[in-house]
Amino acid sequence: MSHSNIIDGKAVAAAVLDEVRAETAALKAKGITPGLAVVLVGEDPASKVYVGAKDRTCQELGLHSKKITLPAETTQDELIAVVKELNADPSIHGILVQSPPPKHIDEEAVIRAIDPRKDVDGFHPENVAKLVLEDPSGFVPCTPAGCMRLLAAAGVETNGAEAVVIGRSMIVGKPMAMLLVAKNSNATVTIAHSRSKDLPAICRRADIVVAAVGRPDMVKADWIKPGAVVIDVGINRVDDPSKKSGYRLTGDVDYADVAEKCSAITPVPGGVGPMTIAMLMKNTLQAARQLTA
Ligand code: NAD
Repeated sequence: MSHSNIIDGKAVAAAVLDEVRAETAALKAKGITPGLAVVLVGEDPASKVYVGAKDRTCQELGLHSKKITLPAETTQDELIAVVKELNADPSIHGILVQSPPPKHIDEEAVIRAIDPRKDVDGFHPENVAKLVLEDPSGFVPCTPAGCMRLLAAAGVETNGAEAVVIGRSMIVGKPMAMLLVAKNSNATVTIAHSRSKDLPAICRRADIVVAAVGRPDMVKADWIKPGAVVIDVGINRVDDPSKKSGYRLTGDVDYADVAEKCSAITPVPGGVGPMTIAMLMKNTLQAARQLTA
């Protein structure tokens, strides 16, 4: 990590969390404590880590946090009943059901059951529509919102820039593309995916590359135009016997080589990851403000 062009996600996330802390105090002074409910179904180890971190961050910032852990055999109807209780709970402003749920549960049906005014993940169709409509009352999915904040913090010019987003998921790729093309950022956006032809050539056009695929070290240095900005969303576990855990985390970008060529890059870990929780806290404040206005 000797490069000077690293975008420090931990530092930017800390700045966002400072904003949230101050805004939370201001809301509390008016008698409103923003509340976030996180629902976890089953025992997925990565999900447990994420849910624990969200709960802890709420507590650190003075938000009300409700963590609901349900057994893996919870039915879809039972889960939706829990969501509906949270919809009706005035102490809760944000609701998040940790993804992925066990296979017998239709995630889409659960997302649709969340009151869109409390959908701080921004996955409900009403919020997807608001993102496309550029309606600021909607909730922007946390990870792409965090990427935009990193670009802004690094002083990256998006106006007229060629941006290539690799990945078309509803969680990262598609909302990221929508944010980049929106009238407040004005990039020219290409969305690449598993069926794209000649991905290296597509990437070489880009002033901004956002990689959200889930394939370790996929994006190579010769895909990158000199001076481009690279945002690496991928979080991949690869075997590493030299680590106590037996694995290390790596992104979708072949970091060491790409870092030599680009003007700025997010590391993994310590890049996009810390931003996701920070933006979730921001969204919870937005929900609390809008629900109590
Ligand atoms: P996903 O599996 O839903 O989507 C992956 C996308 O990559 C798909 O749209 C697919 O078309 C595309 N793809 C697959 N193979 C490809 C190939 N060979 N060439 C080009 N495109 C290809 O994943 P996701 O939920 O969007 O997550 C992507 C990555 O980001 C994962 O590693 C995930 O762990 C990580 N992630 C990180 C955060 C964070 O907070 N940093 C948040 C969400 C996801």
